[in-house]
Amino acid sequence: MKNTVADLAVLGGTPTFPQVLQVGTPSVGERSRLFERLNTALDNRWLTNGALVREFEERIAELAGVRHCVATCSGTMALQLLYQATGLTGEIIMPAMTYVATAHAASMLGLTPVFADIDPETGCLDPQQVETVLTPRTSGIVGVHLWGRPCAADELEKVAKEHGLTLVFDAAHALGCSHQGRRIGGFGSAEMFSFHATKVVNCFEGGAVATDDDALAGELRVLRTFGITTDGRSLGVGTNAKMTEASAAMGLTSLDAFTETMRHNRANHARYCSALRGCSGLTVVDFDEAQDPNWQYVIVKIDEAVTGIHRDLVMRILRAENTGAQRYFSPACHQLEPYRSQRPVPLPHTERLAEQVLALPTGPAVSAVDIDRICSIVRCAVSHGPELADRLGPSPTRPFAIS
Ligand SMILES: *Cc1c(COP(=O)(O)O)cnc(C)c1O
Repeated sequence: MKNTVADLAVLGGTPTFPQVLQVGTPSVGERSRLFERLNTALDNRWLTNGALVREFEERIAELAGVRHCVATCSGTMALQLLYQATGLTGEIIMPAMTYVATAHAASMLGLTPVFADIDPETGCLDPQQVETVLTPRTSGIVGVHLWGRPCAADELEKVAKEHGLTLVFDAAHALGCSHQGRRIGGFGSAEMFSFHATKVVNCFEGGAVATDDDALAGELRVLRTFGITTDGRSLGVGTNAKMTEASAAMGLTSLDAFTETMRHNRANHARYCSALRGCSGLTVVDFDEAQDPNWQYVIVKIDEAVTGIHRDLVMRILRAENTGAQRYFSPACHQLEPYRSQRPVPLPHTERLAEQVLALPTGPAVSAVDIDRICSIVRCAVSHGPELADRLGPSPTRPFAIS
C-alpha cells in the first residue's frame, strides 16, 4: 500500500505489481470448453462458415433481444458493413468521445464523420447538438453507448425521424445492457457489438451487427461474403468479413462466463467506489442498475482544477506501479488525424471530459486486494497533487496507445 509519496514507484519505491495489470485482461472462460469446441471444429474439418458461428449468432441475438445477429471478423468491419448496408452517404453525425474506429469505419467508405458534442452528464451524444450540425448532406446518426451507458436513443430516434435520417448504434461497450426496459441491440436500424480481446465477451477478434430488420440482415450477410448469397447468386460488390469457427469457439466460451464476469466486475466497481469515496476532485463514473450494466469499465474522472494533478500524471504514476490505466477516450476522435486537420471543430464538453477520464483495471483477473492497492496509489497521487506535479513536471505526451 502507498501511504506517502516516497512509496510511489515513480519516485523510487517498489512497484505495486510485479507484472502489468491491464484494463482489459481477456475473459477466457473455461479453457477445457474452448478446447472441446476447437477439437470439434478440427475433427469435423470445418473451420469457417460453420455451426459454431451460427450458435454464437443465435446466442448474441437472444441476449440483444433481436431476430438477427450477423457475426464478423471485427467490430470495425461490423460497423463498416452496417454503414454500407444502410445506404449511408455524405455526412454522418457521431460523438467524438468514442474509439476512433467509429469514425474510421465511415471514412473507409468515403463518408464524412461529423462530430457533435456530448451531454456532459452522460458522456454520450447530445441530441440537441446533433440538430446544430445537420446539413443537406447528412444521411445518418451514429449513437455510442459510452462505457456501456445507453445513450439517449429515444431522443435520437425522434431527431432521426423528423429529418429522415438513418440511425445506427456503436454498442461495442453495451453487450447485455438495456435502456428503458428495451435491450441494447434493438435500437435504430441496427447496433454493432465488438468482441475484441479486451471487451467483456471476446472472440480473440470479432464483432457483430444486431438487428430486427430482415432485409438489412440479409444484406449484411451478403456483404460479409463477397456479395454472394448462400445459394451462390452474385448480388454485387462485397468483402470477406466472416468470423472464423475458432473465434466463435472463444466467443461461446467467453459468453458462458459472461454472467460470472459481470458479477465479479460489479463487485469490483463497488469496491472502487467505496475505496475512492471522499477523494476530492475525483469521481467514479456510476451506472444505473435499471439499465442492466455489464460493469465492463471502471472509469474515474480527475478534475485538475480541484486536485492540482492532471490525469496524465496520475496515469504515469499508475503505470510506474505496473497498473495499466488507459485513457478511454482521449484524445477524442476530432483531435486525431485526419479529422483534426481536415475538419477542426471545437467540442467543449468532449474536450473537457477527454482531459479527465481514466479507465482502471477490472475484470476476472482483478481481485479486491488488487483494487485496494490501486486505490491507495490513486488516493496518494490525488491527495498530494500539487506536490507531485511540482516534483514530476508535465507528462511527456504519449502516442495514443491502441489496446
Ligand atoms: C472496441 C471498439 C470498437 C472497435 O471494435 P473492434 O472489434 O476492435 O474492431 C469500436 N467502437 C468502440 C466504442 C469500441 O470500444
